[in-house]
Amino acid sequence: MLMSNTPSLENYWMPFTANRQFKAAPRLLASAKGMYYTDVDGGQVLDGTAGLWCVNAGHGREKIADAVARQLVTMDYAPSFQMGHPLAFDFAEKLAARAPGGKKAGLTKVFFTGSGSESVDTALKIAIAYQRAIGQGTRTRVIGRERGYHGVGFGGISVGGLVNNRRVFPLLPGTDHIRHTHDPVRNSFVKGLPEHGADLADDLERLVALHGAETIAAVIVEPVAGSTGVLLPPKGYLERLRTISQKHGILLIFDEVITGFGRLGTPFAVDYFGVVPDLVTTAKGLTNGAVPMGAVFASETVHDALMHGPESQIELFHGYTYSGHPVACAAGLATLEVYEEEGLLTRAGEVAEHWQDALHSLKGLANVTDIRTIGLVAGIELASRPDAVGARGYDVFTDCFKNGLLVRVTGDIVALSPPLIVEKEQIDSIVSMLGDAIKNAA
Ligand code: PMP
Repeated sequence: MLMSNTPSLENYWMPFTANRQFKAAPRLLASAKGMYYTDVDGGQVLDGTAGLWCVNAGHGREKIADAVARQLVTMDYAPSFQMGHPLAFDFAEKLAARAPGGKKAGLTKVFFTGSGSESVDTALKIAIAYQRAIGQGTRTRVIGRERGYHGVGFGGISVGGLVNNRRVFPLLPGTDHIRHTHDPVRNSFVKGLPEHGADLADDLERLVALHGAETIAAVIVEPVAGSTGVLLPPKGYLERLRTISQKHGILLIFDEVITGFGRLGTPFAVDYFGVVPDLVTTAKGLTNGAVPMGAVFASETVHDALMHGPESQIELFHGYTYSGHPVACAAGLATLEVYEEEGLLTRAGEVAEHWQDALHSLKGLANVTDIRTIGLVAGIELASRPDAVGARGYDVFTDCFKNGLLVRVTGDIVALSPPLIVEKEQIDSIVSMLGDAIKNAA
């Protein structure tokens, strides 16, 4: 059903949006099916970003819709503190059976949240609580990485590395950052993982030397940084971070809110890189974006340490009204079924080479300074216009949208992450429309 009229734009305060700019040229989506949105004027928009990196199985999945509808009339809500409902336990069990790294990695304890930001705050709190539970109560410092994005909670912006998210707000005391791994000079236009930069993981050693390991609870990174421009880990980098964190008793958290649920061609980045952290944060693809939900996978070691305190004490004083929400669990269970029936958790790997080659065909266009791909993700970096960082990226974004393609831009980096059902011809259309937009934004 299409709305022909534009609603009033006066009252809704839009998130992460230049609201004034938006009102001059509103983009309103009305419906979605498969790989396409339809806007309020009936125009088709090819979804090059799976919504916001979340609609991994494509839009309008009836199995998910039916499960949600059924659950809403069966039981719309149930409190999750000191009681529960079977779906939450069932969903946790099914997730644990497919946990990052497989069962042997031991990341089988699942804490439900309502979003990626909540998953991040939850993981940071679990890490600090774990350290206390094992007698390491001085370890309260959490370490992030420059150009990391971990949502917008106070924990997430503190470990995050984006100045615009940070500068206005007070941050968690004691946080510090390792450097990002982006090196567009030495690693430019490389296919596959960057060769240079594994040694940047040694920054963690420097922070240990500076602060003392006994003050550090955890380090959090996105295995592939998404929102800040698709920055890939150099070969050996994550392994090195794992070795150093383990050596110093620092928990390693992988933020897999984007990379989780098939984005790289494996169920999780943990599987792709073969590096096992202590905690993994997820959201987005967990429910195919249909119902807000997140989940933290914790190792058995971390979980069990928190179970060994005195019986009288609650193990982890933390939770949300919507933790394990029945409707979200129903959506998540149906989503897992869709992923498995259609082989979507490995599908990105089957088209990754085509994706990579198609995108690298943009090399040579004026202003394209780097192209990075992994699984079904891509970052296309454009030269900034003098004195107008982000202007070229914004022009590419608006031009693509006008011509029927949804892309994301971060400054002058275009990010792509289509639903994992994307066909090769649709990949070619995405690349061709993007190429035209880049030419128009000369
Ligand atoms: N972590 C990562 C890696 C993300 O990409 C995001 C969202 N883009 C978040 C956390 C925050 O998720 P949410 O917006 O659901 O709070």
